[in-house]
Amino acid sequence: ISYFVMIDEETHILQQEKETQISMLKGLVQVGKESIYREDDLFLTNYVKLLKGTNDTVIYAMVVDVENRIISHSEPGLIYEYVKDKAGLRAFGSPGLIFQPLKMDNGGEVVEAALPIEIRGRKVGTARIGFSKEEIDEIINKSIRTYREQLITVALLVFIVSLLGSMLLSFTITNPIRKLVKVVGKVGRGNLGVRIKVRGNNELSWLAGEFNKMSGKLKELDQMKRDFTAGVTHELRSPLVAIESYINEMIRGGEEGFKKHGRDDLYVIKNNVVRLGHFINDLLDVAKIESARMKVVKRKSELKPVIYEVTTLFKKACSEKNIKLTTELSDDLPELSMDANRIRQVLTNLLSNAIKFESSGGHIKITAGKSEENPSFIRVTVKDTGVGIPPGDIENIFEKFRQVSGIRDNVIETRGTGLGLFIVKSIVELHGGKVWGESEIGKGSAFYFTLPV
Ligand code: ADP
Repeated sequence: ISYFVMIDEETHILQQEKETQISMLKGLVQVGKESIYREDDLFLTNYVKLLKGTNDTVIYAMVVDVENRIISHSEPGLIYEYVKDKAGLRAFGSPGLIFQPLKMDNGGEVVEAALPIEIRGRKVGTARIGFSKEEIDEIINKSIRTYREQLITVALLVFIVSLLGSMLLSFTITNPIRKLVKVVGKVGRGNLGVRIKVRGNNELSWLAGEFNKMSGKLKELDQMKRDFTAGVTHELRSPLVAIESYINEMIRGGEEGFKKHGRDDLYVIKNNVVRLGHFINDLLDVAKIESARMKVVKRKSELKPVIYEVTTLFKKACSEKNIKLTTELSDDLPELSMDANRIRQVLTNLLSNAIKFESSGGHIKITAGKSEENPSFIRVTVKDTGVGIPPGDIENIFEKFRQVSGIRDNVIETRGTGLGLFIVKSIVELHGGKVWGESEIGKGSAFYFTLPV
């Protein structure tokens, strides 16, 4: 930009200098005209002298008459001489303004400007001024030089300021990026959950914020994986240990012992085998849900018998834990189009959770009736008075592998795999219903699901 501004300014200065020369020449023409008109040379002679004396660029100034005879000259000795040189003839013969370069006898270079003098359209003479090329160049160069210096200073200042500015800007960008790279590296090396300090409100701070969320989520997933592994181990080992110890007992007791406890022991073994089978089925169900292969075969069926069947199954477990189990089923429960086996699985999961997290003396209640919000749905509730679920966990408790961490981690009996509620949600949704939970810590939980009539 500076370069182009400079070129433009040079043209402008040259133009200005030329205009000054023309206006000087026009002044001489005017004075020459008056002097010829009045036939009075005195004023013209003084004016010509003044022109040369006051302006360093003027080498000579003269006025010639119609015969190309000098009537006034800055060099008085040349007055009344006829001009015969080539340049003089060219100036004399020009019908308008001309500029011509000349070489002086002393070797100096001159640019001559000449203009005819006319009175009422008739040419009466010619005004000529010779300007020193050297002086003009010096004046032009001087002003260009000053201008150039100013421009270079400004350009240099702008350059330095923008350089510093861009360095500062790149530092403010690269520094946080370096920090980000460092922390991302840590996560890559398995140090999950590390966070970056978020400062300001710009693209980088948003990125850092999102990274923190991701890092937190990774840690959470890692914890869920650990809980799941612990849960799986527990689910597999405890029935196996029970089966093994009962079989050992039976072997040790011999025939007599078998006659005494054999039948009961076989029941215990069978229950543990069933428990193992349930767990493996849960794993298979999750795999099916994930690959969208879980099917529900809907048939018109009654809900009541399914609920009674499940409560009967858990009666013994409830009485062992001193838990009261009641049902409150509406009389007008209609037949539903449902997969009774899958709904049994839903109720089993909800009820076994309720028993697992219920304390002795508690009360579990199963309610079923038409939904108050939407009568075209049946709403089933499994409500307990157990430990409850913290408010932050209840919204995502239906996610796969999700378990409530905290004090219950230490209680081996409540250790699970976090699959039960995920299966519940998937089955209910395959039926076109909804599932949700409400809970208050220490006061119990209620799980609801709806099924279309
Ligand atoms: P699992 O019981 O095998 O861990 P679920 O998906 O059935 O898996 O349950 C997920 C988690 O939800 C449980 O680990 C438990 O922390 C919590 N939970 C479920 N039902 C209840 C309940 N009735 N009372 C308290 N906590 C519950």
